[in-house]
Amino acid sequence: QWGRLKQDLLKSVGKSNFKSWIEPLELSHLEEGVATFAVPTSFVGNYVSQKYGDQILYHVQSVSPEIRRVHFQVPGNQARRPAQARPAAAPAEPAIRRDPMMPAAPLDKRFTFDTFVVGKPNELAHAAAKRVASGGPVTFNPLFLYGGVGLGKTHLMHAIAWELSERQPELNVVYLSAEQFMYRFVQALRERKMMDFKSMFRAVDVLMVDDVQFIAGKESTQEEFFHTFNALVDGGKQIIISADRAPGEIENLEERIKSRLQCGLVVDLHPTNYELRLGILQSKVEYYRTQYPGLQLADGVLEFLAMRITKNVRVLEGALTRLFAFASLVGHEITLELTQDCLADVLRSSERQVTIEEIQRQVSDHFNIRLSDLIGPKRVRVFARPRQVAMYLAKQMTSRSLPEIGRRFGGRDHTTVMHGVRRIDELRVTDSQIAEDLELLRRTLEA
Ligand code: ADP
Ligand code: MG
Repeated sequence: QWGRLKQDLLKSVGKSNFKSWIEPLELSHLEEGVATFAVPTSFVGNYVSQKYGDQILYHVQSVSPEIRRVHFQVPGNQARRPAQARPAAAPAEPAIRRDPMMPAAPLDKRFTFDTFVVGKPNELAHAAAKRVASGGPVTFNPLFLYGGVGLGKTHLMHAIAWELSERQPELNVVYLSAEQFMYRFVQALRERKMMDFKSMFRAVDVLMVDDVQFIAGKESTQEEFFHTFNALVDGGKQIIISADRAPGEIENLEERIKSRLQCGLVVDLHPTNYELRLGILQSKVEYYRTQYPGLQLADGVLEFLAMRITKNVRVLEGALTRLFAFASLVGHEITLELTQDCLADVLRSSERQVTIEEIQRQVSDHFNIRLSDLIGPKRVRVFARPRQVAMYLAKQMTSRSLPEIGRRFGGRDHTTVMHGVRRIDELRVTDSQIAEDLELLRRTLEA
């Protein structure tokens, strides 16, 4: 039977995935609605369960409908905990007290402050999140966190929820996505349970709504959200919101909502820099070492990944998981060559590199100055500031070194570049105009 199922899976996962992941699986036993598969290592177990668990279950159920769960186990490890499924698929933790009817999403156990690596790009957001999580009097309301995909918004929100519920278990902390909010709202409308819906949300102590941009353009949901929001703020309850962009930039969001969202503290998570990516990789590796003590990691692999996978922490993490899983499967040291082989597809798609020339062109366009003035020797402010902005972007968005950047800016010294980068880094925080310029430029360059 399993042999035939494997053939079905071959079709649905593709040949190379099949060879790496499905082929080595052996069905070990069926018992009490659970199909258990033998896997060579717990890494493979984790990976397969996360990536293909649902598909495998689906195929298994097509021949044995009584099976409710698939389970992956290293033979001889019976006594150990089952290979943990990714928490995304894990059931809700009842640790947080709430109305059982409350439409809240489960919290990911790994998303705590302990596992959040702090660096320049996220330090403000982290500090603000910490402050809210300390559970003192409400100082800013709402806390609005924004930033691109995979930069840690959801992670920070979960971390706040975990910490708050640990400090004050009696608090009714509710985390949900804007999509879930809408879904529940629409459901309440349909079932004529608006009163219940309202009173449920009014009883919340801390409300977190993730990815609020989702309700843009959804008028009645916005309306209800606005009322909920106001009722809670008026009641002195903390609200934490995330979005993929600043409140003012969310299109099709009512002005009154935008302005309310801007009333509290708005902080953004900047695109990661090299140091932060490396830090995140290192902390993940520490964790993997406990899971897989024998595995050797060659020098330079993490640096390579931090350099090459720049956009999204989720992709970066996924790449590392895959690398470890693969290496544990074939029993090799993780070398640079293995990394390049194993992650060829990720590395290829991991975006084109922005060039210094492109940055210079965009920046001079943006500030309406000539390229020759941007690069040239004149030190008047109208040229110097854009020049610093361009240097800053060059440092952030390319993998060029400071001396190299200096060379491309009319043969300047690396200390000049460093000074410029630092200056913009400061201004970014204090000068909202510069912050906006940077944001715009970054977006155009990444497009
Ligand atoms: P977002 O909600 O902003 O799209 P997530 O919070 O889901 O991003 O983060 C994506 C992944 O990257 C998660 O697995 C998260 O744990 C991880 N991650 C992001 N930033 C950090 C960080 N600073 N330290 C550790 N892990 C991080
Ligand atoms: Mg998120």
